[in-house]
Amino acid sequence: MAQWLQGRVVENQHWTDTLFSLRLSVAAIEFVAGQFISLALDVEGERIARPYSLVNAPGSDDIECYLVLVPDGILSKKLMQLNPGDEVFVSQRASGFFTLDEVVGHHSLWLMASGTGIGPYLSMLTTDEPWQRFNRIHLLHSVSKQAQLAYSSLIENLQRQYPVQFNYRAIVTRENLAGTLGQRLPTLIDNGVLEQSLNDTFDSQSAVMLCGNPDMVADCLASLKQRGLQKNLRRKPGQVTVERYW
Ligand code: NAP
Repeated sequence: MAQWLQGRVVENQHWTDTLFSLRLSVAAIEFVAGQFISLALDVEGERIARPYSLVNAPGSDDIECYLVLVPDGILSKKLMQLNPGDEVFVSQRASGFFTLDEVVGHHSLWLMASGTGIGPYLSMLTTDEPWQRFNRIHLLHSVSKQAQLAYSSLIENLQRQYPVQFNYRAIVTRENLAGTLGQRLPTLIDNGVLEQSLNDTFDSQSAVMLCGNPDMVADCLASLKQRGLQKNLRRKPGQVTVERYW
């Protein structure tokens, strides 16, 4: 049974008509970057809760989650409508194994996301660990339309801070947009365009993380297996660590 803390909305930033970020003030929650908490609201006398990854840096004053409005989803619709000062329940404990301490390898870290799956990577990239462990870090964010490329100023700051070690590629699949890649991630892995674009190759010392749409995760994993990479399991370490969002 979850133990609930009382949180208050500090900011509800709407990026598009379906994407939003909730910043909440709440008592300190200890977590490792990449983990998730549950958010809950009481709806018609019933507490409805769902897990959401934390986007903020561990140790920061407020917590932040990046969410999408789910068609027919009761909770995401209510959360999207919240205003500063409104109450949200937050699970006392964070959970999950989609963290860098579960990842092996040290050459290049490939962080591949679709949609809101970019959230946990933004938290990881605020910590020292990836920058100390990996020679190169590639953040790849696949969305259908340009307007869904959230958190661009945070990403630009990382590019300024780590101009050699860090690469970001936006992937926009349903609009032709200069400066972005235009095919789905598995295609970009299969046809070599991703590696070409980043001037890097997948090898046994690479670490790949996949987060977001479960079909994207499954298709990328299949493509990476074709390249000789293996799924990372606690009982059998491999190069590819996955988190499915639904
Ligand atoms: P999405 O459909 O996951 O698309 C995001 C990106 O992933 C797009 O570039 C898309 O390419 C690509 N993609 C989709 N399937 C792929 C595959 N099999 N292989 C490789 N790339 C793939 O968009 P989203 O907005 O994040 O989520 C879609 C829907 O899922 C939303 O309506 C949302 O409400 C619902 N949903 C989300 C959650 C959640 O927790 N995030 C939970 C439940 C339901 P294309 O443009 O080519 O499709």
